[in-house]
Amino acid sequence: MPGPVLLDESAGALRALRAVQALRSWLGDRLQAIEVLGVSAPAGGAGPQLHTPEGIVSARHVVVCAGAGTPRLAAGVGLDIRQHYALHSRPMFRVRPDYAAVPMACWIDRSGEHGERVYGSPAGSSGRYAIGLAGEDGAVPLGAGGEVPAGTDMGDHVCRVAGYVRRALPGLDPEPESVRMCVATSVGDRLDGFRAWQAPGVTAVAGANMFKFAPVLGQLLAEAASTGELPAELAPSAGSAGAP
Ligand SMILES: Cc1cc2nc3c(=O)[nH]c(=O)nc-3n(C[C@H](O)[C@H](O)[C@H](O)COP(=O)(O)OP(=O)(O)OC[C@H]3O[C@@H](n4cnc5c(N)ncnc54)[C@H](O)[C@@H]3O)c2cc1C
Repeated sequence: MPGPVLLDESAGALRALRAVQALRSWLGDRLQAIEVLGVSAPAGGAGPQLHTPEGIVSARHVVVCAGAGTPRLAAGVGLDIRQHYALHSRPMFRVRPDYAAVPMACWIDRSGEHGERVYGSPAGSSGRYAIGLAGEDGAVPLGAGGEVPAGTDMGDHVCRVAGYVRRALPGLDPEPESVRMCVATSVGDRLDGFRAWQAPGVTAVAGANMFKFAPVLGQLLAEAASTGELPAELAPSAGSAGAP
C-alpha cells in the first residue's frame, strides 16, 4: 500500500472470551443469570429493588451495565440517559490455507485507498478473520429506543466488506463464512469513552468501546457503588446526557 503505515508491534486483539471466563470463575455460584425486568427505588429509603421473573431482589447498591438495555432500566430510578444506537455488521472470512501459518495482525485502514474504511482482527486462533466497516457510513443509525428503521438492508454492508477483502486482503477467502450483527452504543459525540449516572443506591454506566476500559471502569464503578458518589472520571460531561 502506498502512503504511510503505522505499525504498533505491541498491539493486539482483546481476548474477550478468556477475560469473561476468568471473571465468571472468580464469582462462581455468586453469579446468577436472571433477566431484570426493572429497577426501582421504593419510597421509604429501603434501597433499590430489582424486579426479576424469579422474584424481587433488594440491594444496597445496583450497578446497571446492561449495554443497549441500560437507559430503559435506569429510567426506573429517574435517570435520563440518552444513548445512541447503530446497527453494525461484522462478516467473518476464512484465512486461505497458504496463509494459515502466518501471524495475523489487527488491521485498521482509514486511507480509503481500497474503496472502504475498515477495521479487522483475527478471531482467536480459529483461522478466521472478522472485518467491519469504519467511519460514519459503517453502521445504520437506529431509533431513539434502538428500533431498526423500516427498509434497512444490512446485506449491502456485507457486500461492501466482501468487496474490500477481494481488493485488499489476498490472504482471506472473500466469501463471508458468517456474519455477526451488533448494536453499537455511544453517548454524546465520543467514539471511545464512558460516562456514569447516579440516583440514590443506583449507578448506571454507558458509552462506546468500553471493553478496553474494563479494568479501570471496574474500579471506578466499585468506588461509585461503595461510596455512593461518582468519581470525577465517571461524571457526565455537558452535552453527553443528563442526570436529573
Ligand atoms: C461491533 C462491535 C465492536 C466493538 N469493538 C470494541 C473494541 O474493539 N474495543 C472495545 O473496547 N470495545 C468494543 N466494543 C464495545 C464493547 O463491546 C462494549 O462497550 C461493552 O461490551 C459494553 O459492556 P457492557 O457490560 O456495558 O454491555 P454489554 O457487553 O452489552 O453487556 C450487557 C449484558 O447485560 C445483559 N442484559 C441486558 N439487559 C438485561 C436485562 N434486562 N436483564 C439481565 N441482563 C441484561 C446482556 O445480555 C449482556 O450480557 C465493540 C462493540 C461492537 C458492537
